[in-house]
Amino acid sequence: MTIHAYAAAGPDAPFEAFEFDPGPLGYDQVEIAVEYCGICHSDLSMLKNDWGMTQYPFVGGHEVAGKIVALGEGVKGLEAGQRVGVGWTSGSCLRCDQCLSGYQNRCPDAEGTIVARHGGFADRVRAQAAWAIPVPDGVDLADCGPLFCGGLTVFGPFVENNISPTDRVAVVGIGGLGHMAIGFARAWGCEVTAFSTSPDKEAEAREMGAHHFLNTRDASQLAAAAGSFDMILVTVNVALDWDAYVAALRPGGKLHLVGAAEKVSATVFPLILGQKAITASPTGGIVTARKMIEFCDRHALKPTIEEFPMSEINAAFEHLESGKARYRIVLAAG
Ligand SMILES: [Zn+2]
Ligand SMILES: [Zn+2]
Repeated sequence: MTIHAYAAAGPDAPFEAFEFDPGPLGYDQVEIAVEYCGICHSDLSMLKNDWGMTQYPFVGGHEVAGKIVALGEGVKGLEAGQRVGVGWTSGSCLRCDQCLSGYQNRCPDAEGTIVARHGGFADRVRAQAAWAIPVPDGVDLADCGPLFCGGLTVFGPFVENNISPTDRVAVVGIGGLGHMAIGFARAWGCEVTAFSTSPDKEAEAREMGAHHFLNTRDASQLAAAAGSFDMILVTVNVALDWDAYVAALRPGGKLHLVGAAEKVSATVFPLILGQKAITASPTGGIVTARKMIEFCDRHALKPTIEEFPMSEINAAFEHLESGKARYRIVLAAG
């Protein structure tokens, strides 16, 4: 058995054709023929070894969409030919407190799809069966890869914060994560405000589902929104005027971070007085991922993607690095 992949030999090396033998298929694993694999910003961070945990040759790719081609002996409930997706996590112990309480993504032994193993920039990829999320018939494999990492990351906060249809939600940043968050918030039934530093994105934000647009370069617009939002979902990774964002929350509101700015600094008293919280979350567990993809099917939600053949992976990464991707890049396997 040989897997044909694209690997980088170091942080500044290009991706090149790379073959490896994955060994025997695990008892609880499935093997997936990759049809599409999204490129996430975390793939770039891993390529560059930004988090000090990259092993080379590095095969990235953790937004996999494909079909099951082989099942380990112990796998139940999935079948050959079934369409599935795999995101950041490809395995967990399934017996610790985190796993048993539905937060398998927080398992201390969770396996990252591209951490110390090879990911989805390949013709085949393996995952623990529980982490191979069935894709409903109404969802196109070409579109759904990015849902399993970026999509899950912005869907989780709606579940975690018990967002209801009567809530007002703001999404900060109209990019790879933010554009999906706006769609989720609208389909959830919320009143949706898009926050952006780019006024030229207003029309697009409204098309994605935003009812309102707030230009955050204009501090007076943010000040005027004081006391407005039940959740402000921050998808950008830059320092913000944190006190002004806390002020824009309604009492009991959550400033929820999925973009990794270096530090948060906010005045405590307004948090106490309004019983407001600054929260954060990583991707999501298995059941949240299943709910997310079913929600996307029901509401015909999909990311806006640009498709590249997997053989043009280096051009695709350059496009990602240029910041011009609108809004997720997906590689189509040969
Ligand atoms: Zn990712
Ligand atoms: Zn566990």
